[in-house]
Amino acid sequence: MSKVEQFIEGFRRFQQQLYGDNIRLAGKLKRGQHPQALVVACCDSRVDPALLTDCAPGDIFTVRNIANLVPPYESDDALHGVSASLEYAVCNLEVRDIIILGHSSCGGIEGLLSAAEGEMVGEFIGRWVDIAAPARERALSRIACGEKEELSCLCEQEAVLTSLANLQTFPWLKARVDAGELHLHGWYFHIETGRLLGYRTASNSFEVLVDGYKPLSS
Ligand SMILES: [Zn+2]
Repeated sequence: MSKVEQFIEGFRRFQQQLYGDNIRLAGKLKRGQHPQALVVACCDSRVDPALLTDCAPGDIFTVRNIANLVPPYESDDALHGVSASLEYAVCNLEVRDIIILGHSSCGGIEGLLSAAEGEMVGEFIGRWVDIAAPARERALSRIACGEKEELSCLCEQEAVLTSLANLQTFPWLKARVDAGELHLHGWYFHIETGRLLGYRTASNSFEVLVDGYKPLSS
């Protein structure tokens, strides 16, 4: 069976679960969407936010792009896909929380670090990940040369903070944060250990939200 046929089979199972076994959820979804949170996640196939948070359809509004980046607010004639998604989530859906979900082994951040060494990174990728150039500068200033894994990890986490800062350059978003109507969160999923970290302003660091996987004792 080809992968595409597997996906169609998967859709059949999803359809059965949603329309056959979970009539209540299907009815709720037909009445429109009222997600409580927006998640900005990477395109990476390993970090699907709905799967990672065990959410049902309708629970989270999602923006995915290379390296889970939020660009700064810009008022010009360019096409701003991420900004349009933010506007819809904040102004129309009135989400209460925004989560920037970073992750380890991020190819986008690897590209950002390669670009610092003069490497050309694709036709579009290099320009896109350059949004996180301030994060790269902060990471490079703290990690000595040669410690590649540690540098990547720090840069991935700093990029989450850059996106959190960029979120607050959108005036209608900042106004809601200041009014206490909207809460911003920086998360980091460490794929190798299964840990979930969250940024704490008080300690200015990422702290463990969910520790690495341990089998339930019988
Ligand atoms: Zn990534």
